[in-house]
Amino acid sequence: MATVFEGAQQQLRAVQNILKLDETTIRQLMHPKRVVEVALSVKMDDGSVNVYTGYRSQYNDARGPFKGGIRFHPSVTADEVKALSAWMTWKTAVVDIPLGGAKGGVAVDPKKLSSGELERLSRAYIRALAPFIGPDIDIPAPDVSTDPRIMGWMLDEYEEIIGRKAPGVITGKPLSIGGSLVREYATAQGAFFVIDELTRQYHLSKGTTVAIQGFGNGGSFLAQILADAGYAVVAVADSQSSLYKEDGLDVTEIIKHKKVTGALKNCVGCEALPSEAILSVPADILVLAALENTIHSGNQREVRAKYIVELANGPVTPEADGQLFERGVIVVPDILANVGGVTVSYYEQVQNAANFYWEEQEILAMLEKAMRRAFGAVALYQERYNTTYRMAGYVLAVERVVRAMRDRGRL
Ligand code: GLU
Repeated sequence: MATVFEGAQQQLRAVQNILKLDETTIRQLMHPKRVVEVALSVKMDDGSVNVYTGYRSQYNDARGPFKGGIRFHPSVTADEVKALSAWMTWKTAVVDIPLGGAKGGVAVDPKKLSSGELERLSRAYIRALAPFIGPDIDIPAPDVSTDPRIMGWMLDEYEEIIGRKAPGVITGKPLSIGGSLVREYATAQGAFFVIDELTRQYHLSKGTTVAIQGFGNGGSFLAQILADAGYAVVAVADSQSSLYKEDGLDVTEIIKHKKVTGALKNCVGCEALPSEAILSVPADILVLAALENTIHSGNQREVRAKYIVELANGPVTPEADGQLFERGVIVVPDILANVGGVTVSYYEQVQNAANFYWEEQEILAMLEKAMRRAFGAVALYQERYNTTYRMAGYVLAVERVVRAMRDRGRL
């Protein structure tokens, strides 16, 4: 089986055929510009020292500084961050913000660390990466299992190193130190605008049913936003279990329950199922909000939804993507559906640079405009090239990145 990064490279090959790109161009797009691997020594609470491996893949900066999150997860590898950094490049291009693509990560299970250990790991990561990042070089942000608190520690460490304030070096910060309103729920809010466009495009009625796989930051916020807007969120799942209710779950209650107990199960009034059961529940739209490779050729047949929205990065394998297409399932790809997060990260940077902060409604209005415009641009390419939304997004993104590389005289 191809690795995640090989999958990302295969996607580019398909774009090459559509755009008739020459071999020199495609070879420049196929690999990260730089990948940094670091060994992080962290003093544990019991006095012992653990060594963790961290990465930062800086993929492409033709359109602006590298940009992308940092994840703390046991499955992080160089291959994975490389793929994720390529996708960040396409994402910033699809939504047309002046940034490139990067991604970082540490192979660690953060649930096993105390708060002090987590802080020392976060500071160690940024110390090791400090020579390679900066507000106009590479700007990290949160990703899987990292949050504003961690961004706060990282910003503090970076500013101590350089001896001056530089809030624009990191986004997704706490509000008190230069974070942006909306950023916390921006990925979900952006996906909401995309789902709204999708329902218009395909004339879906109000009360459209939605199942959400993954109940972390993205999934839980989206469940709430959709429920508030009148969608029936009939199922949600975390890595342990799923909950299903034919006429719609009480999302507010479930979020409360998950916050208190850390789990979805035992929620009163809902049917509890195994985690994977979420894929086959009857729902119009299935949102994938967990990790890569959730849907593969072995389980794609179980999907009953007509539409899939990728809130996570890379949740459908390239093979399953083709099979879903044959079956007539419409997939709204990650590089369009989840760009809300990085878009508000960009607004955060703009505010940091201006040292002037916008109100929530102003940011929401800008995000809505950016998301609807991105959907429209991808939909146009989807029709023009008679292809999938994913391929249309890729073609649009690669075209924009290639244009910037040409304008720099690099091609
Ligand atoms: N980690 C998020 C993503 O995958 C956000 C990245 C950012 O804000 O830079 O899009």
